[in-house]
Amino acid sequence: MNKGLLIVLSGPSGVGKGTVCAELRKRHPELIYSVSATTRAPREGERDGVNYFFKSRDEFQDMIARDALLEYAEYVGNFYGTPREFVERTLAEGKDIILEIEVQGALKVKEKFPEGVFVFLLPPSLNELKARITGRGTETQATINHRLSVAVEEMNLLYHYDYAVVNDRIDNACDRIAAIMTAEHCKRERFLHELFQELKELAPAENVSER
Ligand code: 5GP
Repeated sequence: MNKGLLIVLSGPSGVGKGTVCAELRKRHPELIYSVSATTRAPREGERDGVNYFFKSRDEFQDMIARDALLEYAEYVGNFYGTPREFVERTLAEGKDIILEIEVQGALKVKEKFPEGVFVFLLPPSLNELKARITGRGTETQATINHRLSVAVEEMNLLYHYDYAVVNDRIDNACDRIAAIMTAEHCKRERFLHELFQELKELAPAENVSER
């Protein structure tokens, strides 16, 4: 049986990863979602085990020590991490799983699962990104410059990804990600081995060779 796809949806902060991921899951209920662990407090309406596994700092440290996390990162003063076992089990069962995580964590996943499908969500335009950063008019020039350089650094990470998806409209972004998943399922590597095993049974060995 083929392993499932590991889809990593990431991108700069504020680009709308969470909204796009939620819509994608609505459209594709068969897509398994990796529920992260976090030390941040639950927001109104969030449920433990559904939105996140809410952990104390000690509990989170313990997960790190037990190697229970595939990756983790600190983001705005809180820890976030992907439970490892669930991801591995889901993939082994041949099911696709999606991780919606920030960029540092995504790079760590890539080290462990280079065969994952890494999707970088982009803002509709750089002008829009700049407007969002400079727009409020209350910040000092130094703060604005700092934010701009963080944004540029984050955008540079696109280089490590397989796909870039512009989030101009949520439904467009979802269409593009769905197309990526379809294409990834059609990759010849996913078929070659099994196909040749079957062909070998059907035809004389000298006619069938797996490259
Ligand atoms: P929020 O607190 O708004 O739910 O999430 C903050 C950020 O943490 C978002 O950019 C989200 O993608 C990221 N995040 C959520 N779960 C994980 C995770 O397991 N690992 C990493 N590295 N980032 C995560």
